[in-house]
Amino acid sequence: MKSDFYKRTKIVATIGPAVATKEAIESLLKAGANVFRLNTSHGDMDDHREKFKMIREVSKKLDVYCGIMVDLQGPKIRVGNLIEEINLKNGDEVIFQHSQNQKTPEIIPVDYKGISKDVSTGSKILLDDGKIAAEVIKVQDDKVWAKITNGGILKSRKGLNIPGSTASLDALTPKDIEYVKFAVEMEADFIALSFVRKAEDVLLCKKYINNMDSKIPVIAKLEKPEAIKNLSEIISVSDCIMVARGDLGIELSPVEVPVYQKLIISECNKQKKPVIVATQMLESMINEPIPTRAEASDVANAIIDGADAVMLSGETSVGKFATEAVKTMSKIAQETEKSAFYKFDKDFEVSEDMALTRQAIVFGADKMLKYVNAKAVLSFSHFGYSTRLMSKLKPSVPIILVSDLEQTCRKMSIAWGVCAFYKKWDSVLGEDMLLKIDDFLINEARLNKGDYVVITGSAPNLITGRTNFVRVHKIGT
Ligand code: PGA
Ligand code: MN
Repeated sequence: MKSDFYKRTKIVATIGPAVATKEAIESLLKAGANVFRLNTSHGDMDDHREKFKMIREVSKKLDVYCGIMVDLQGPKIRVGNLIEEINLKNGDEVIFQHSQNQKTPEIIPVDYKGISKDVSTGSKILLDDGKIAAEVIKVQDDKVWAKITNGGILKSRKGLNIPGSTASLDALTPKDIEYVKFAVEMEADFIALSFVRKAEDVLLCKKYINNMDSKIPVIAKLEKPEAIKNLSEIISVSDCIMVARGDLGIELSPVEVPVYQKLIISECNKQKKPVIVATQMLESMINEPIPTRAEASDVANAIIDGADAVMLSGETSVGKFATEAVKTMSKIAQETEKSAFYKFDKDFEVSEDMALTRQAIVFGADKMLKYVNAKAVLSFSHFGYSTRLMSKLKPSVPIILVSDLEQTCRKMSIAWGVCAFYKKWDSVLGEDMLLKIDDFLINEARLNKGDYVVITGSAPNLITGRTNFVRVHKIGT
């Protein structure tokens, strides 16, 4: 298994009923999945606990460090329980009001108290992933009158979006807070926060995590127009970003998504934060064994845009061809990465908010690779800060991380080009240690005697200190 570990673009696969067994998870891992997403919008906690155990067991058996992402549902507004489905026609006037259950046929219940505060005449209200649209004509007390501008059949519990104004919603619902506790208890590797609007939303999530004595990284899902307005600040406080194109396409419009995708990726690359492109990447593979050409192009273009990871949702969670979807994504990534179009400008400007020594060493190491035709970067790291920075430079060779923390190995599952090894090595880089490293590089990392590697780490303790050295090494000499 570790022989096909040198992945550049990483793959996130969503777990669901189609991949609910150890065999299915093993098959996804072997096909090239690096991170598994548990979507808390579906299933209950016992379900997710079960999946956690399966994933950990299978990855241990295959000896790979894959990550688990707990994706919080976030403040998603929903229509309440209806007496029966409603056939909404263009021009119909409807009334929305906060309530869990429909009491009279004229009023559509909404599970969000602030509905009447967050809209005004002219606001748009979208139902069922934007399939049904309405425009607000009047707000009085806690009732909202609206005219249907795009009709359809409305069913109970469908999503409701109010693009651009949900200011009074809490960033985390009580259910999300329960799932943060769950994620900490299960030692999840990432927590994804849905419907982020501003940097404070991410900081609030981090506060809950930190209060439980945990440092689980937070992935901000950008799926609201407010998030685009606050893009730079949100990225700066987040550990990772997801371009959540599903809801972004509802809150904005599908036609605006491609340009925003490029904007978000380029800002993440500037701030050296990993970025995932998500949703509908190989959508047709839910039912078909091969993707449409447009989908194959979409994956390739996200990678050329500079995404560190690409994500599968329904394709793996409920799809008929889950393993094939992961394999297809992997193959598209490989084809794209070896093409001449896969090139990035490397603006190695040091930033004030990161240790200067670390930046100097990582930027230098990346430059050194070509002079000796190095076959890999060997990055010794405790928390993985320098490895993550190296990953953002997208070097031409694999980044082999050696860490003495298993959490670090798992966290790096999302990092472009990184393959992690867990070793309790914390000693001076003397002759003995170099012999051990050579043995490891040849027998575990599958490099050859005589190959050059560029090593970064810390002295005197190889792993636990701050990154402070870079060294060129020829294996076996
Ligand atoms: P979801 O997020 O699948 O949890 O809704 C992704 C998206 O909206 O694109
Ligand atoms: Mn979403």
